[in-house]
Amino acid sequence: MLFTYPVVSLTCNWLNDNIITSLVDGMLAIDGGGTPVAWPNCLPNAVRKRLQGQSGLKTKLKAVWTVYADLTPNQRATVRDVIAQQTNIPTLYRDTALNCAHLNALPAKVRPAVEELAEYAFDKLSSLKVDGRALRDIHFKTIQDSGVKVCPFCGLQNFQPAGLKRNALDHLMPISKYPFVSSDFRNLPPACHDCNSLYKKDTDVLYDSGGKRRSCCDPYSGPAYKVSLLGSRFGEGNTIRGYKMPKWSITLVGKPGFQASTWDAVYSVKLRYEYTLDRDFIDWIKRFALWLVREDSAARSALPPQIAEELPRYIENVVQEGFDDAAFLKAEAFQVIISACADEEIGEETQAWLADFVYYAT
Ligand SMILES: [Zn+2]
Repeated sequence: MLFTYPVVSLTCNWLNDNIITSLVDGMLAIDGGGTPVAWPNCLPNAVRKRLQGQSGLKTKLKAVWTVYADLTPNQRATVRDVIAQQTNIPTLYRDTALNCAHLNALPAKVRPAVEELAEYAFDKLSSLKVDGRALRDIHFKTIQDSGVKVCPFCGLQNFQPAGLKRNALDHLMPISKYPFVSSDFRNLPPACHDCNSLYKKDTDVLYDSGGKRRSCCDPYSGPAYKVSLLGSRFGEGNTIRGYKMPKWSITLVGKPGFQASTWDAVYSVKLRYEYTLDRDFIDWIKRFALWLVREDSAARSALPPQIAEELPRYIENVVQEGFDDAAFLKAEAFQVIISACADEEIGEETQAWLADFVYYAT
């Protein structure tokens, strides 16, 4: 991912942990030959008042306990192991030595009740209100208040402003496989429509399609990566609208490790950047040309090397850095032109190519 969400937005992340605490306490009571503490005292003290009116939760917990009581000691141990494994986030994200069993590792008869509890808990993030606001709205507003406007998984799409229709919450660990973290915001970073619905869908971030364990970025602590186009070869790529594009070389620069490759495998970011660059590159150059002639109309008759010299000033003053309007990608694309303009072999030709945009800027 390109940047992380503020940890402060996890202040409202209490629902999943408390449901799991109640669930496991009840299981331990059953293991000890007794029965779970009666509702609402089976709920942790800190959240009892907030949750005691949630009769659906009472029913769903009871349903899991009922089938759990019918399991053999070995089967019960499996259930508790799976709960412990799945809820070990964010450590699970980075430590590939840790296995994390899926829903299908649970005894078949307990699965439906577990799935129902998971769906219920996830829905509660939208309906359970604190001070008049749903938990997921509190979470998202905190994120937006910290200045996040763009999806950190791609940097290409803006979020809806808080208060309008909600952006999707992306289950990093899909609810269909990891029901015990269905309502944990650590597993639920907001993502743009494309990232969530077109690319990630229910891809498992912990295991690749061959079942191999992989590490992934924690949306709240990273690692985050920078996109570099260093090594792109000018004029050797696709032909788009009659223009020869650079052959893009896209590198995700940051902490060594496999988180970047998981990010790319799950969200196809390199491919999306390549297509975005091909689509927008010429328009970016045309905008640079317009800016230059508006700054100084004499630029229309400037020599190509003088025009090329204006590129760094354009990056610094107009494109800048950051994530508004894909600036992180645009600034890098202009660096590719700067390198090509300084190249011994193709510099002169590239400068002349760039200058034509300025001479004919409209
Ligand atoms: Zn996105």
